[in-house]
Amino acid sequence: MRDVIVAANWKMNTTPADAGELARTIASRTAEPGVVRVICPPYVSLAAVRDAVVGEGIAVGAQNIHHELAGAYTGEVSAPMLAGLATWVILGHSERRRDAAESDALIGRKLGRAVEAGLRPILCVGEQLVERESGRAQDVVASQLAGALAGHDADTLLAAGIVIAYEPVWAIGTGRTASGADAAAMADAIRATLRSSGWGPRADAVPVLYGGSCTSATIGEFLAEPGIDGALVGGASLKPDEMAGMVARAALTAAARRAAS
Ligand code: PEP
Repeated sequence: MRDVIVAANWKMNTTPADAGELARTIASRTAEPGVVRVICPPYVSLAAVRDAVVGEGIAVGAQNIHHELAGAYTGEVSAPMLAGLATWVILGHSERRRDAAESDALIGRKLGRAVEAGLRPILCVGEQLVERESGRAQDVVASQLAGALAGHDADTLLAAGIVIAYEPVWAIGTGRTASGADAAAMADAIRATLRSSGWGPRADAVPVLYGGSCTSATIGEFLAEPGIDGALVGGASLKPDEMAGMVARAALTAAARRAAS
């Protein structure tokens, strides 16, 4: 049975002074059984969030890592530096692909660093609007996956708990969402790509999240799809009410899956 996951990407929001309080509030409002909750604050707020959620069953994640372990990389943070601060990491977010020109090959190197450091990776993929409108969405995502996963061993990534987040770029922060059916079709395509790249039936064990303007009002459409295992949430994850609604809905899916298994 795959994990049901709600992961909060706080992006470049919060300070160490306010992140702990926000995390504490979210923790107290989302204490639902069966849902894996992850909060990914900015690096400087990792310690505050870690301390705030001790004993709450919430995991803490980083939003990025560097592809090298140490050295002359001003302003960067490597995977081993996150020891004791984070247990998850978001990789290949479209904002980093856009702003830091991250390529699939570079994201693949980061994936290796994450796994070596024992971080659970959330690998983000997703097409631009023009690519969807021209019918190339699934090809684009398949190519992103192939590029990032090249050279990685399926068993190693599975043991690391890899999660794929399907985040159509045109839905991120725009208030537009994909339809549940389109997201489910992409989740199928993602697992088909894995299956045909040597993963075989192990592809079915990989959680696929939807991301893109997800809210408490829309998450149900995605969680109603058996192939979707939760959400990676940006803007709405800064709002405790929204987090409470999304995790409550995710808990229904988790309970239904438990009952069916
Ligand atoms: C994200 O940043 O991963 C994201 C999905 O953002 P938003 O929910 O704000 O669209």
